[in-house]
Amino acid sequence: MPDWLSFLRKRDRAAIVRPFLRVRHDWEQPDHRQARALTPELARRLHPAHPLHGQSPVALAQACASDDVLFQCADGRLCLVHLEWQDSSDPALPDTHFFDGIDQLLAALDTGDGERVPPCPSCSADWQSGEASRDCPCCGGFALDRPCPKCGGACGAQWQRAVQDSIDGGIAVWIGKCGNAGS
Ligand SMILES: [Zn+2]
Ligand SMILES: [Zn+2]
Repeated sequence: MPDWLSFLRKRDRAAIVRPFLRVRHDWEQPDHRQARALTPELARRLHPAHPLHGQSPVALAQACASDDVLFQCADGRLCLVHLEWQDSSDPALPDTHFFDGIDQLLAALDTGDGERVPPCPSCSADWQSGEASRDCPCCGGFALDRPCPKCGGACGAQWQRAVQDSIDGGIAVWIGKCGNAGS
């Protein structure tokens, strides 16, 4: 157990984990024993040239259905790591994305950068790959963006899917501004 961990208070960790789990329902917080095991587990899989080599990041959350783990480094940075459960000689593995803090991480999750956008919960269309069902209300006929629905696309603006709101409500939610508004 790294020394600095004793200084990382429970409250500080909760401030990261709670908002993260709010947008990542298929993740969970590892218990103390699991979290302890994940740090050496990660260390064993790091090539000496990997950016996490020599650090002892602490596991804050893990995906239920995959090998993805959210770690916090001693310097406070967060990283999403796709743990390959075999030794790797590739310095780029395991695949790791760094974030300065929880705000940056949540922003990245919103845009699907650094983490895959979940598929449509109704029809399983893979939005990130551009898949969408025309007759599925949650898809609304489009994947992650669509032409402005206000004017039928005449203004040329693209609206972005609010992924979590769409999933929570079961109906497509779009964020954008009509370029013809007010005219
Ligand atoms: Zn759908
Ligand atoms: Zn418009």
